This record gives sequence, structure tokens and C-alpha cells, in this order.
Amino acid sequence: MSFHTIIEPFRIKVVEPIRMTDRAEREALLGAAGYNPFLLKAEDVIIDLLTDSGTGAMSAEQWAGMMRGDESYAGARSYYRFFDAVHDIFGFSHVLPVHQGRAAERILFSTVCHPGDVVPNNTHFDTTRANVEHVGAKAVDLPIPQGRQPASTHPFKGNMDVDALRVLIAEVGRDKVPLVMLTVTNNSGGGQPVSMENVKAVSAVCKEHGLPLFIDACRFAENCWFIREREKGYADRPVIEIARELFSYADGATMSAKKDGLVNIGGFLATNDPALAKQEATLLILTEGFPTYGGLAGRDLEAIAVGLREVLDHDYLRYRITSTAYLGKHLTKIGYPIVQPPGGHAIYVDAAGLLPGVPPQEYPGQALVCELYVAGGLRAVEIGSVMFGSTDPRTGREMPASMELVRLAIPRRVYTQSHIDYVIEVMAQVYERRERLKGLRIVWQSPPLRHFTARFEPIAKAAS
Ligand SMILES: *Cc1c(COP(=O)(O)O)cnc(C)c1O
Repeated sequence: MSFHTIIEPFRIKVVEPIRMTDRAEREALLGAAGYNPFLLKAEDVIIDLLTDSGTGAMSAEQWAGMMRGDESYAGARSYYRFFDAVHDIFGFSHVLPVHQGRAAERILFSTVCHPGDVVPNNTHFDTTRANVEHVGAKAVDLPIPQGRQPASTHPFKGNMDVDALRVLIAEVGRDKVPLVMLTVTNNSGGGQPVSMENVKAVSAVCKEHGLPLFIDACRFAENCWFIREREKGYADRPVIEIARELFSYADGATMSAKKDGLVNIGGFLATNDPALAKQEATLLILTEGFPTYGGLAGRDLEAIAVGLREVLDHDYLRYRITSTAYLGKHLTKIGYPIVQPPGGHAIYVDAAGLLPGVPPQEYPGQALVCELYVAGGLRAVEIGSVMFGSTDPRTGREMPASMELVRLAIPRRVYTQSHIDYVIEVMAQVYERRERLKGLRIVWQSPPLRHFTARFEPIAKAAS
């Protein structure tokens, strides 16, 4: 690159206005929403960093593809275009469309898992874990130790601990392990990538034991870009080739196309095993739809087919990863403790480190999320004791989560650099006021997954 400035590699053809609000208005809105930003109306948010899932902007080519959608019930042209794109990049011979990632998970695990089985993963995403547990199996996370240390700058913190995988298989016996999964990038571990070397090593262990390896492929393109940037031997390879190599070590994949499919809805389940594909198709018909549409419209399949190619564009990926790193770099400069290095799709702030005066029982992550909204209309999500805190069955007391994080997820192709500069400015102001932030208490909740609907009130600080 001959210039220092990396621009958004697109022009804007359609715009959506952002409604501006002031601090007093936002205080009232947040109070009415029970201090839970999930309960805010989206139009009352200025910059929405709640999730990168399904929130991206589609391209002109994708919208054009939508018009070409073939809505035939069976054997639609759109299915074949979708199949060709998935097959070309991922290489799998059987591809079932589904309405989103968790549908693929439900079909896969209810086909291959039995009660008492164990499914290892670098780190299960929450819906993945829930679907494994729903069929009575156990979801085990095996990240490398650096993956659990926010400050570690290991280049592939998403890697699986291969020795721990061997130990686990030896302990429970290979017959209890229906498959091994790798999540790329590791969402719950901070959007951190998995190296090709690690994929190969995990695949070798699987082959040794005759176990299938499945990839949770939600952010495969971002992961492959990190491989190109950070792993020896890949600097000159096109990302599509890196992706083909990565999936060549696997036997199947689940995918939420709401992430690196660059669409607002959709996903797929892929495998090379014809017998498994048959069983999965039976379940798909039962709950999602005929195997050539799987609960999606023909136009959705077209948008995925185009999106899967656009997401592998080097200019797009350079901009994507650079803009996430840009936010991370500036927050670090301000003084925010964040999960290092910045991941692909989000920045994770360590709220416990930022707010040492707010104990876990008073939800430091939620306190920060609320202040970000009141200060500048930003919406982020708490990933800490509100989301993962659990009640000790013996004492009835609440046990905090292992980390108190706040995630700022960046939608794809939606915000420009000035939007991100605004986020940085708001967060600089919040940083200055950090000692005045108050904790919260829950006044209403409905477990499990209480974070979506819980209501809070601020705890008045005792005068000291
Ligand atoms: C989003 C996500 C899923 C689930 O996909 P949905 O489309 O939300 O159902 C599974 N795994 C990972 C890693 C994800 O990020």
C-alpha cells in the first residue's frame, strides 16, 4: 500500500438516517428500558454495536441477486447458485440451507449426539453449547491457556489445546465423542483466530481416532485473513485458497451466513458424508423446509451466494480488520483495558479492570454499557455476570462469571470511520468519568438467558 489511509472500499448508494438524541432524552429512555439496552428501540440508538450478526449492509450485486431469486419450491436455480458458491469455497459435497446458524447446530447435534456424549470445541458459542446440551451431551471448551488471558498477545488465541484434546478423548473414550468442532474465529474467546497449523493438528488427532472434524465457519473469511497476515507461508496466498485449504482438513461445517455471508438472514450445514446428509435432510424437512430452500426464500440464497464471494475480497477484509483494530488501538491509547490483540469483528473491554470500584455483584459490564448509551447513544452488550452469572444451588447466592466484558461488535459495511471516531470520542469522555459510574441491581429477571429481558436499577453510592 502506498498510502497510509485505508478507506472504506465502497461508495454509499442507499442511506438510513440516524436519529440524534441528547443526554437527558437518553437518560429517560434508558430508565424506561429498565437500564437494559436490549429493551431500547433501535431508533433511539445512535451507533449500534450490539452485534455483527445479520446487521451488515448488502451490496448492489446482492440486491440484484435478490431480484433474480427463483422461488420455486423444489430445485430452484437459486439453490444451485448457492450450492456452487459454497462448494467452490468450502469444498463439501452436501449442503443444506438453513435459516440461521443455530438451526444447522440443532440438526447436526440431534443427528450425531447421544445423551452422555462429549463434544470438544476451542470454545462453544452460546447457541452451540445450548444445542449440544439440549440433546443431553456435554460441551467442553479446550482453548489454549493464552486464550483465557485478556492481555496475552498470542497471534492465534483462538487455537484449540491439542494436548488437552488428546487427554479428553483418552479419558472419555472415542465412542463418546461424536465429532470435534473448531470455531473460526473464536467468537466467545474474543473473535480470535485459529491458525492453519492448529486446524491441521486437530484434524490429525481426529483422523487418528476416526472422528469427524466440523468447523463452525461463521467468520471464516476474517479467520483466513488473519492466517494470511500472521502465519508463515500464507502472505502471498489469495484468501479463497487459504479458505479452501482450511476446509480441506474438515469433514463438515455449520455456518451462520449472518456473519461472513454478508446477509441479514441465512446459513447452512455442510458435510462430505452422504449417509449423514440424508439423515440431516430428513430433520430439515421436518422443521425448516425442503432441502433446496431450508426455510429461506430463493432470493436469500442468491444473496448468500454473492456475499460469500464478496467477503473474500482482499480490499474488503483489509478494511474490515483494520477498522476493528483502529477502534482497539484508540481505546487502548485512552487507557481502556481490552482483550488483546483486537479480534476480527469486535472489541471486548475488560469492565472489571476499568471499574475496580464496582464489584461483580453490581455488574460492572452493565454499568459501562448503560453509561455508553447515556453519554453518546452507543449500544454495546455486557458479556459478564449478567449474561453468565449463575445461582449456587446450595447457598442460593449468585456466582459471578469468570470475566466482566463489554463487547463492541462492528456491523459489516455499515459505519464509516467518522462513526468510529465518534465512538472513540464518547468513550474517551466516559473514561474520564469512570470513577463516578454506579453499579446496578436486578429488579426483575427470567432465567435462562436472563440478559435479554432483565430489568435493573442503579445502586445509589453511599456517601463516603
Ligand atoms: C452467531 C453464531 C452462531 C449461531 O448463529 P445464528 O445465526 O445466530 O443462529 C454459532 N456460532 C458462532 C461462532 C456464532 O458467532
